[in-house]
Amino acid sequence: MREVILCKYGEIILKGANKSTFESILLKDVKRRAKAIGNYSVRYMQSTVYVEPLDEDAEDSIDEMFEQIRHVFGFAGVCRAAACEKDMDVIVPRAVEYLRDKLPYGAVIRAEAKRSDKNFPLSSPEIAAEVGGAILEARPDLKVDLKNPEVTIRIEIRDKEAYIHAGQEKGAGGIPAGSAGRGLLLLSGGIDSPVAGYMMMKRGLAIDALHFESFPYTSELAREKVLTLAKELTEYCGRICVHVISLTKIQEEIRDKCEEDYFTLILRRFMMRLATMCAEENGCLAIVTGESLGQVASQTLPAIVATEAEAGVPVFRPCIGLDKDEIVVTARQIGTFDTSILPYEDCCTVFTPRHPKTRPEIAKIEAEEAKLDREALIKDAWESRYRVVRYQFENGGANYER
Ligand code: ATP
Ligand code: MG
Repeated sequence: MREVILCKYGEIILKGANKSTFESILLKDVKRRAKAIGNYSVRYMQSTVYVEPLDEDAEDSIDEMFEQIRHVFGFAGVCRAAACEKDMDVIVPRAVEYLRDKLPYGAVIRAEAKRSDKNFPLSSPEIAAEVGGAILEARPDLKVDLKNPEVTIRIEIRDKEAYIHAGQEKGAGGIPAGSAGRGLLLLSGGIDSPVAGYMMMKRGLAIDALHFESFPYTSELAREKVLTLAKELTEYCGRICVHVISLTKIQEEIRDKCEEDYFTLILRRFMMRLATMCAEENGCLAIVTGESLGQVASQTLPAIVATEAEAGVPVFRPCIGLDKDEIVVTARQIGTFDTSILPYEDCCTVFTPRHPKTRPEIAKIEAEEAKLDREALIKDAWESRYRVVRYQFENGGANYER
């Protein structure tokens, strides 16, 4: 029996004249994943992408393909369906055969039909009644409730074929990955920044990541953890280039010359300067961080104002209005939580002040910064950069590039 995956468009249905640009990005994403898994045909028609196995191996890997489809931004609903000829003599027995073992014992069902082919001889209620009746005959344990079913069986009569399924799931939502331009995600090893990256990817942003390390105060393990997080995020975007910059010298200078209460803030302003340079070098039009208002001393409104003053591009903070437990829910759902809680240090936790300023004054920060040779420090840190690329479908080895 032919089984296909139907992926139904979300927001891009509303895109008017630009729809085809979004469609081609979406199709490319699905094709990239399909190629890594097996021999599939991927095509679109009527605001749906059809993914169909072309040989037995692909048929056997359809579970894995379906799992991939759930990670594609741009789909509102996804399901697996039996495909067949548009003829009731074929549809009815096919529906019984396909669904007989898929419906839980005693389930409360409803059958629903939709025709986009208005020439089909039966009306939607007639199709639903006929298919529903045949299924009930084959499975007398099932019950019917048109208002509150546990499972909705759907028969879709489309232009070329009919499709039968029970259990359309929510898709990943959002808009196609990379359709909104590129941003630079400040990726620490924490819980929040991978979630921030995911949230912006969902809104179509392609992501480069920037990680600041402070070797030997931060370890190789801390860096590997961040690269693992980047790899986990490639589930949603295919590839991430992680830029790494060393802050060791900057942090030592701040420690030696500045007032302790200002350590973190001054450091974060350096980070923003370097992030802006990295964004500009790599075609990123925005910076993305995992900050959440008031979560820690460096995330009070005055602290954010002081940090943002050093950014030369817009800073997106998708977690700004989320509680920690809400961020954790998403971190678990996207698969980054377990890595994030590994106990390695971050450069922000090196030389942390005992009483960080929560209401810093810019004039005072600037006075502290005047004790440093900022331009030389930035130049030095900038020259320390290197990059590591992570791909979704590449096991093990990362690619190191200068
Ligand atoms: P997270 O859980 O994302 O680490 P956090 O609650 O620990 O966040 P901070 O350490 O204050 O908060 O960091 C705030 C944001 O600054 C992070 O979400 C991240 O975007 C960025 N950031 C912090 N440390 C680093 C780092 N070492 N490299 C790159 N970005 C960083
Ligand atoms: Mg952190």
